Amino acid sequence: MGAPPNTPPPLPPLRDVIRDFGLGARKSLGQHFLLDSNLTGRIARAAGALDGVNVIEIGPGPGGLTRALLDTDADAVWAVEKDRRCVAALQALQDAYPGRLHILEADALEQDLAALTPAPRAIVANLPYNVSTVLLLQWLRQADQFTRMVLMFQKEVADRLTAASGSKAYGRLSVVTQWRAQVRPLFNVAKEAFTPPPKVASTVVEVIPRAEPLAPAKMTDLEKVTQAAFGQRRKMLRSSLKGIGLDPAQAGISPEARAEDLSVEEFCALARQLAAQTA
Ligand code: SAM
Repeated sequence: MGAPPNTPPPLPPLRDVIRDFGLGARKSLGQHFLLDSNLTGRIARAAGALDGVNVIEIGPGPGGLTRALLDTDADAVWAVEKDRRCVAALQALQDAYPGRLHILEADALEQDLAALTPAPRAIVANLPYNVSTVLLLQWLRQADQFTRMVLMFQKEVADRLTAASGSKAYGRLSVVTQWRAQVRPLFNVAKEAFTPPPKVASTVVEVIPRAEPLAPAKMTDLEKVTQAAFGQRRKMLRSSLKGIGLDPAQAGISPEARAEDLSVEEFCALARQLAAQTA
């Protein structure tokens, strides 16, 4: 008698995979592995219904979260991993889930994920911390290519992503992310949940790209404006935006306001003003 459908095939414990493939964690690759299947299952479930969806996982490592994703209804899992040692360790998982796990040995920073797999696409990942925000900004540039993202960040980064205007954590990352997506923290993960533990706690964040950005603007202009404004966040906009030749009053914004007082829509108005001036 064969195993009933949906029963995960027997796989070695992740600790054995790490030992057998010599996956000593490399700091340069932000390697902090999740070995608890309750936690990886929780992250996979946070991605919601995945029936018919191609899930992209960045940095599968020894494959803990990958296993959880393969146990969902997702059509397929596309795993992009830079570390060749991990790629070798994932072969057994590929054999256990025939045709559903695609492994790409590559640097995610250099990958066009939309070209990797057909839509609809979701990204689910315990991201390498050293490149997590660069990757997110890269994906937000083509946000309409992804239906949803569930991503683990350092808690401090998650706080910045989800911060409201007026708060201390509100900054460039909050503005650009919230302009292009709806973002909310789902749950915190203690550092002890990782092997090896990182220095700080983490948070799983849901990022749902908006069908249309919150307000018209070009992302490059928004980045220029937020960089200038938050680069000198204690100064009034009148002086912090001088360097890029922008007068906030012309965009209908008080020159005496400070960067953290502005809404995302107001930053978009400044970005449009910058575009108009340089056109
Ligand atoms: N998903 C695994 C887990 O939860 O146990 C590992 C997560 S670990 C925080 C980050 C993973 O990303 C590592 O496997 C690391 O090798 C990989 N990685 C680091 N930089 C990468 C890059 N630029 N492109 C692709 N993978 C990368």
